[in-house]
Amino acid sequence: GVPVLLHIFFFRSVASPPSSNFLLLGPSGAGKTAFTTLLEAKSSPASKKSQTTHTSQTSTLITVTLPPSVPTGSNKYRSINDPSLKEATRNPIRYRLKDTPGHGKLRQTQGIAELVSMSSSKDLKTKIRGLLFMVDTAALVDEATLRDTASYLHDVLLVLQQRALGKGKSSTKRDAEIPVLIAGNKQDLFTALPAGSVREKLEGEIERIRKSKSKGLMDAGGGAGEEEEEEEVLGDDDGKGIFSFKLLEQVGIKVDVVGGAVKGDAEEEIGSGVRRWEEWIGMCL
Ligand code: GDP
Repeated sequence: GVPVLLHIFFFRSVASPPSSNFLLLGPSGAGKTAFTTLLEAKSSPASKKSQTTHTSQTSTLITVTLPPSVPTGSNKYRSINDPSLKEATRNPIRYRLKDTPGHGKLRQTQGIAELVSMSSSKDLKTKIRGLLFMVDTAALVDEATLRDTASYLHDVLLVLQQRALGKGKSSTKRDAEIPVLIAGNKQDLFTALPAGSVREKLEGEIERIRKSKSKGLMDAGGGAGEEEEEEEVLGDDDGKGIFSFKLLEQVGIKVDVVGGAVKGDAEEEIGSGVRRWEEWIGMCL
């Protein structure tokens, strides 16, 4: 009857509350603050003046609107002829993004701690839907930056692996997997490495970290009967093979490396350099 129609009309015209949370991690200088600032500006162009200023010392939680032209995972199987999928008619889809400081000293207490808390949360309000790890693709040629970036990423992936393997949990029910996007930022710089090289560099460096970690464990764990330190090695193959992100798919962790640029070319439309990251987010929704 009429009330039902009114009901439908009402809900179709009102933006639903943001339902998914994404966590943004990465070393300082990667462009996380610039990215959140850009997403905020894109989401509410009218309120640019009231934009909050972000610092790199604390976490910031923002609500973002997905551009109407970005497809979402929940409608990917529907017919492209479905009129409800036409850009202009789709209800605004919103999500939350939490930006965390990437400074070395704050990683364990803020970035990693946030990941642990969001990934173990059962509450929809705080539960994590996806993880974005931002890297500066123009800085990875520098050995120290590569080592620093890879060791942070290693620690992050280890948290996800331990969660996926259900360490310390009696429950047999697996939690939903958390997909990872390595957002290769600063592709506008001509010194930037393409996504494929970024993947190779990070995988190679994580392999080195993994090797030295498992060697350290073997050297330390001489005494038989002592507590096993298994699952501490990323990739879950006793550190024997060569590390690759693909190895993590065995435990349900999918890692994508996608290039982009927060600060694009001047001629390009503002924010177009982050389009492919938004598409990745859209597929998680
Ligand atoms: P954070 O420490 O990860 O939050 O990094 P910031 O957002 O503070 O960015 C660090 C620096 O990189 C700033 O000077 C930004 O203007 C710059 N930056 C961010 N994104 C890009 C990009 O896509 N291209 C270029 N060329 N510079 C960028």
